[in-house]
Amino acid sequence: MKAATFYEYGPAEAMRYADIPDPVIGPGDVLVQVQACGVNHSDLDSRAGTSRWPFELPMVLGAEFTGTVVGVGERAGPIQTGDLVTALQQYSCGRCAQCAMWRPDLCEAFEVFGTTRWGGYGELVCVPARVVVPLEPADDPLAVAAGQCVVSTAWHMVNQLALVRPGDLVLVPSASGGVASALVQCAKLAGATVVATVGTAAKAGQVSLLGADAALVRGEGDIAADLLRATDGRRFDAVLDTVGGRLFGAHLSVLREEGTLVTCGAHAGEVVPLDLIPLFRNGWRIVGFRVAPPDELTASLELIRHGSVKVPIAATFPISDAAAAHRFLERHQHVGKVLLVAG
Ligand SMILES: [Zn+2]
Repeated sequence: MKAATFYEYGPAEAMRYADIPDPVIGPGDVLVQVQACGVNHSDLDSRAGTSRWPFELPMVLGAEFTGTVVGVGERAGPIQTGDLVTALQQYSCGRCAQCAMWRPDLCEAFEVFGTTRWGGYGELVCVPARVVVPLEPADDPLAVAAGQCVVSTAWHMVNQLALVRPGDLVLVPSASGGVASALVQCAKLAGATVVATVGTAAKAGQVSLLGADAALVRGEGDIAADLLRATDGRRFDAVLDTVGGRLFGAHLSVLREEGTLVTCGAHAGEVVPLDLIPLFRNGWRIVGFRVAPPDELTASLELIRHGSVKVPIAATFPISDAAAAHRFLERHQHVGKVLLVAG
């Protein structure tokens, strides 16, 4: 098959559209012909060699994809050739001690498409039948491919880590990104008042359309003071952060006592300033997002299919030009999700 792959770590140009062996399906697998595949920031780190995952090269990236079943193993159950499907982007082994204790999210042999096994940046993907999620023929393959990663991440952060409740005041910094725009919508679904920050006035309009109650354009001044002015001095119950960077301490500082900051990304910088004195005096909690468990992946797909959470699509590129998609993402100019489509 043809796939966008890389044989060594490097810049976007390291991505090659090359012939690699077709995946071979086992009795419990299905073969999916890819229609659309999401491109994530983590893909850029994977390709650059900075992800801290031990990859076996060549690797075919792509955690979230939709496509048509073109091959079915003899023990793959009711799935049929021609079905439109997606797959859980990561899944547990079902056999280890953690899985036996109903903690699939702590599985010792976790599999992740595009990380531990080939994902959706190619023409074909081998998928274990037990992680296939059937779609309706009317479902939009692009919307489904665009949403699983960002919506499940956002849903887990809002509901399981920040424990957002109706009436809470929530801050989403740099809210134009993929996960951040889903965070705005999931926090609204949870009944919160949402304040977002953005870099430009144009992005403020787009974030307001997603449901943010206020969208603050970052200036050069004191962002913490600007935020508290916008809320008439009320402090935030939760901060849902995807960016880290030099403003991390300022975002933390607007929390109420015993408020929670949940972090899932560090596009603005991985090593951040942190003053420990106010941290313990205020009892702030900093919580890392690790992984969304399988039931929340399934739930997030339902939110996408029913339009409860919309993931704007910034651009689509053919799989053959995945390098261009990576360069586009690296410019940080987009709002919403970047997709690869067959071809
Ligand atoms: Zn396991």
